[in-house]
Amino acid sequence: MSRIVPNIDTIEQHLQCLTSDPERYRPERCYHCGYGKLWGHGYYLRQPDRGFDGDGSLNPVPIPRFICTHPDCGRTCSRLPQCISPRRWYLWAVQQKVLLGLLCGLSLNHLSNLLLPARSTLKRWWQWLSQRSKQFQFCLVTTFPELLCYSQWSDYWREGMTRYSLSRLMLTLDRQEIAVP
Ligand SMILES: [Zn+2]
Repeated sequence: MSRIVPNIDTIEQHLQCLTSDPERYRPERCYHCGYGKLWGHGYYLRQPDRGFDGDGSLNPVPIPRFICTHPDCGRTCSRLPQCISPRRWYLWAVQQKVLLGLLCGLSLNHLSNLLLPARSTLKRWWQWLSQRSKQFQFCLVTTFPELLCYSQWSDYWREGMTRYSLSRLMLTLDRQEIAVP
């Protein structure tokens, strides 16, 4: 089960979808106990509109929460649109821009002058991708076999993010219950 709702690629789409199709966010069953039905349980707020394009005007962004109706469980969970990174302040699209820039040979200094995240943050993202690459590539093989021909990790991710998107690749990992940031 994925905690990410696919194919919601921008904050604007997410805000629209919350009004027009809120059922899309409701998980089929509880993540914790595995069988409880879920009821809507309000929203919590996040501030993901930041970075190179985001001017903060869309913040705060509501994220739907759910509560398990099973009497022995009663735990809550939330569901994110595909564009929002579960554990980072910046959207996947911002992270993708940085990582693609680095993969294409731009320097950290150059990118941190252009973009809002601090140089140390950009460096952390880069280290994360390079260190986790082997495991991630292994888990992405079935869904993206055409990327197998890129044996260098940097070629793999440059091609992967160009053909698909970082959020799509991360969604695929999340579906396999691999923790993504
Ligand atoms: Zn439950």
